[in-house]
Amino acid sequence: MKKTYVAPNIERNSAGNMNKYGAKSVVRHQDQIEGVAINDLVSKFGSPLIVLSESQMRKRYRRLQDVMQMHYPKVEQAWSYKTNYLGAVCSIFHQEGARAEVVSGMEYQMARRLGIAGKDIIFNGPGKRPDELKAAILDNALIHIDHLDELYLLEKLAKELDSRPNVAIRVNMDTGISPQWSRFGFNYENGEAMRAIQRLLAGKAMNLKGLHTHIGTFILDANAYYWAARSLLDLATKIEAEHGIVLEYIDLGGGFASQNTLHAQYTPGEFASPSFDQYAAAIGAAFNESHFVSQYLPLLILETGRAMVDEAGYLISSVLGKKNLPTGERAVILDAGVNTTITAWWYKLKVTPTRSFPGAYQNTVFYGPLCMNIDVMRYALPFPDLHTGDKVLITPVGAYNNTQWMQFIEYRPRIVLITETGKVELLREREELEDVISRELIPEHLRKI
Ligand SMILES: *Cc1c(COP(=O)(O)O)cnc(C)c1O
Repeated sequence: MKKTYVAPNIERNSAGNMNKYGAKSVVRHQDQIEGVAINDLVSKFGSPLIVLSESQMRKRYRRLQDVMQMHYPKVEQAWSYKTNYLGAVCSIFHQEGARAEVVSGMEYQMARRLGIAGKDIIFNGPGKRPDELKAAILDNALIHIDHLDELYLLEKLAKELDSRPNVAIRVNMDTGISPQWSRFGFNYENGEAMRAIQRLLAGKAMNLKGLHTHIGTFILDANAYYWAARSLLDLATKIEAEHGIVLEYIDLGGGFASQNTLHAQYTPGEFASPSFDQYAAAIGAAFNESHFVSQYLPLLILETGRAMVDEAGYLISSVLGKKNLPTGERAVILDAGVNTTITAWWYKLKVTPTRSFPGAYQNTVFYGPLCMNIDVMRYALPFPDLHTGDKVLITPVGAYNNTQWMQFIEYRPRIVLITETGKVELLREREELEDVISRELIPEHLRKI
């Protein structure tokens, strides 16, 4: 076989040294995902390709369920659609027993399409429209109220439809983390949440079933959940004492960090992010010291998104070309950029070669294919000399990418699932021109050029 050309360069070769975390500073190659060869995946489905792992998703769901139950037995999960709303992904979590957690009318329709009954849908979000709320009321969904105008609207709709909506109040509070998410729901510390609850109960139009919070995302301080749970349990205690109403559930939202590494973080995510055990211990501590809990055993709901699915997602991308930058760094142009993988803006994604390479490593920047200066998949990383057509594996990318991806100048790639038995199933076709323009109209006077 003809040897591949390796560009000459002079650089101290530190290959094999350990970094301070005991991890090799030099990337090892990975040529398969769960036993399925990356070359086979690309020859069958093309590049770029998003690959999801069914067993990772199920494993993480069961792990969180088990770990939380060790601290508090009455726990259920709701799948956060916006984290990844591919029908197959949602169905995996629904098969595991998750409710649907949706934050828009579109997501609500997605859950209904998958056959989820209204009573198993939690309808969150700040922008629910009247017709969407009507459908949710008629379906008996759990509607989490974000602001007073929504509360008034729900009262009006309840009267119109002659029914009593099942609702919860969304609460925001100081949990010691910054920035504090204060734009969603009603504030705890300044008494706004309690006033909203009093107003809701005075209206006598709805069933107050629970309290909800979602304190933020990628929360690196597990103890924030202790304070969040405590605030909601305090409110529940007050509601019982002042109004004689016993709430059925406390919903602590999502926000657990995945194993990704934020750009600002020095410590790699697999060391910096709290484990499920640490989050569960913090929540369990608040629950187990609450008198309300020991008396009424409310249902605890978790809406974990990112930490459930991020590690289940891989992106295979191919090298289109490379160049040398004036900085002395090498640049590689990949066939997938922030259009498919927007989380590259927040995380130092892991880039792994898919075959072994001879030669020295050089600092390499990974760009996507977009005509956009900010289309950077990964800032400089010591990397072997890639060649056009070489493939790299970018991980973890399972959360928020195929919901926030952009159309900008490219078609979206295929998505496949590696099933628990090692089968590869196509979940989403690669887009074509027709997918992009099918909703467009060209006025008569512009049809002749
Ligand atoms: C986005 C969202 C979630 C999931 O958040 P993660 O940070 O992905 O765990 C859960 N609940 C609500 C209300 C959300 O908006």
